Amino acid sequence: MASARTLDDVAVKGLRVLVRADLNVPMQDGKISDLTRLERLAPTINELSAAGAKVIVCSHFDRPKGKPVPAMSLRPIAAALGTVLGHEVAFADDCIGPVAEAAVAKLADGDVLVLENTRFHAGEEANDPNLSQSLADLADIYVNDAFSAAHRAHSSTEGVARLRPAYAGRLMQAELAALSAALGDPQRPVAAIVAGSKVSTKLDLLTNLVAKVDILVIGGAMANTFLAAQGHDVGKSLQEKDLHATALSILATAKEKGCEIILPVDLVVSATFAPNPPTQVVGIDAVPANMMALDVGPATVAGIIARLPHIKTLLWNGPLGAFETPPFQTATNALADAVAKATVDGTLISVGGGGDTVSALRLAGAADSMTYLSSAGGAFLEWMEGKILPGVEVLSAGLSNLG
Ligand code: ADP
Ligand code: MG
Repeated sequence: MASARTLDDVAVKGLRVLVRADLNVPMQDGKISDLTRLERLAPTINELSAAGAKVIVCSHFDRPKGKPVPAMSLRPIAAALGTVLGHEVAFADDCIGPVAEAAVAKLADGDVLVLENTRFHAGEEANDPNLSQSLADLADIYVNDAFSAAHRAHSSTEGVARLRPAYAGRLMQAELAALSAALGDPQRPVAAIVAGSKVSTKLDLLTNLVAKVDILVIGGAMANTFLAAQGHDVGKSLQEKDLHATALSILATAKEKGCEIILPVDLVVSATFAPNPPTQVVGIDAVPANMMALDVGPATVAGIIARLPHIKTLLWNGPLGAFETPPFQTATNALADAVAKATVDGTLISVGGGGDTVSALRLAGAADSMTYLSSAGGAFLEWMEGKILPGVEVLSAGLSNLG
């Protein structure tokens, strides 16, 4: 992939700039529960505004399925964005048509406007050329700062980018740089940790990674499936029995490609899945029939930590245990500490991502010490799976279309 143009490549003063943002913030009881997405977006918007652009922000929010749903309006999120930016933010009740056009016409250089939820129009997810054109009509140039939505070829992420000169925003740029450093042309040896609940949700990921990384650590409940496939009795542990053959074929491919696989050597087991139950540490051949593995054991973690000094780049997706329920965050936290320390010491490039992975690394206090922690769940995984992200691809494809 050719690299995308960035804000360094354009003088925006006086231009109407359509910014595709990800304002799809997590909500709890009608309130925004985490401002991270807005904070990460601020540099791009503030830079454009300070440079005298008329900044027009668009985004999806939730799943209104192509119709206006008042509870899924971006209006309250626009207000929160204003607070994060420390800058007044106007709002338009539609993302296209006369309402949006009138709001754009009122903008002075440096002003910021948020448009209503793009998914209030069915054309958004259909990547309808009419919707793309209506969005393009609002602006002189297009900036995509929503890496987290770039795995979808929608009007606001892909279609519109074909109709205007298109650039990567600062957050998009940072994501692309970090991910290329980790998986594009990484400093070797490169290791990946893939853990979490299910092999089935991460098959493409495992398949892509065994061909690209030198070491693959498999943890979490998905390790149970691999251990069971190898003939270990995992008791009542969460596992996918129908994926034993798949697990074995992933191991065979790894061997063929020279990718070393690290599976747990010990496990933390419990008879009940509840906070602070009685637990035992057992070897992988000693899981009692009535118990389940809810975390990898101390010898496993020590083994992984001992390898860190010999690893230059580490990709991490998936908590090693059922981290939401104490004490099954123990292995994840211990490894997170070691990864954070090696990163801060400058001996390791560490890139993490995935919805639960980000929460787990935050809880572990390691989030700010990682080289890069991607806030893009699905898009991060698809990138790690080796897929082409349409919203990213079009930013470089646009170079030949529009010069
Ligand atoms: P991400 O969202 O970062 O891609 P996943 O969704 O694949 O990660 O996996 C996270 C989930 O896996 C967490 O909810 C965690 O509790 C669960 N998990 C990890 N290990 C185990 C285990 N041994 N038993 C049950 N659940 C587990
Ligand atoms: Mg998850």
